[in-house]
Amino acid sequence: MSSPESVDLLSGVRTPICVDCGETFARAPEEAAGRHDPALPLSARCPACRQHRRDALNASRLAAYATGVAGAAPWPAPGPESGNGRLHNARCAACSRSIRLPFRPSGDRPVFCRACLQMRHGQ
Ligand SMILES: [Zn+2]
Ligand SMILES: [Zn+2]
Repeated sequence: MSSPESVDLLSGVRTPICVDCGETFARAPEEAAGRHDPALPLSARCPACRQHRRDALNASRLAAYATGVAGAAPWPAPGPESGNGRLHNARCAACSRSIRLPFRPSGDRPVFCRACLQMRHGQ
């Protein structure tokens, strides 16, 4: 999938077009160089729309966090990501979300998802 671009037929210069506001924008040359993962696509949004999305996302996370509606919080991962070692399926004792643990839950101690853990420790 590639982001929309406007190509100048004379010069061949490609100008990215923001998928949100439809305006062309200058993509910083260091964006491509500074990416953590080269497999990630370049942003299809202008810096202003990117910032706007980031703010909106943060606001919704903070709101869900503040009201304790952890189940509705759009956290990217409710538990440790898969990868190293085995993961055990479990269920958060507070919000009933299914989580994955890097250790085997003993059963006599409740386990919590990351959001609920932070809520319990952060007060
Ligand atoms: Zn935009
Ligand atoms: Zn939870």
